[in-house]
Amino acid sequence: MKDCNCIFCKIAGGEIPAATLYEDEGFRVILDVNPASKGHCLILPKEHYANLFEIPAELLQRAAVVAKKLAPKLTGGLHASGLNVVQNNGESAGQTVPHFHIHLIPRYDGDNMKLGWIPGKLTEADRDEILGCFKAD
Ligand code: 5GP
Ligand code: ZN
Repeated sequence: MKDCNCIFCKIAGGEIPAATLYEDEGFRVILDVNPASKGHCLILPKEHYANLFEIPAELLQRAAVVAKKLAPKLTGGLHASGLNVVQNNGESAGQTVPHFHIHLIPRYDGDNMKLGWIPGKLTEADRDEILGCFKAD
């Protein structure tokens, strides 16, 4: 399944060139064109799924295996001291390209990169509401 208007379908399929770190029958891993850090790359499935809600579980598992495979080479080769794994779903979550992808973002001591949130406080009301959503019917 492909979306002919999707930039990541074109890149994953090799129609548009991109700096490729890894490729197999299901995935292409490319350097992000606007990296958050040196080595920031994207795991792209070759099949088009918009997000985590759409991607089949089996393909998601394979994407995780690709991340696991690349992580040591990426960080070791670049002498990074950490790695963020980021995956955005929906505009409100910062997703700008609606083709499922996983960001691998190497981190360096003192890199001052901003990624995160201001910690809140879990209220009893929120806790009870959320737990209620997960109660069996
Ligand atoms: P999102 O915000 O959807 O989670 O991440 C999309 C990422 O794709 C961004 O980090 C952006 O820099 C990257 N990106 C967008 N268009 C292109 C492109 O044409 N080539 C490459 N290599 N990266 C892209
Ligand atoms: Zn696509």
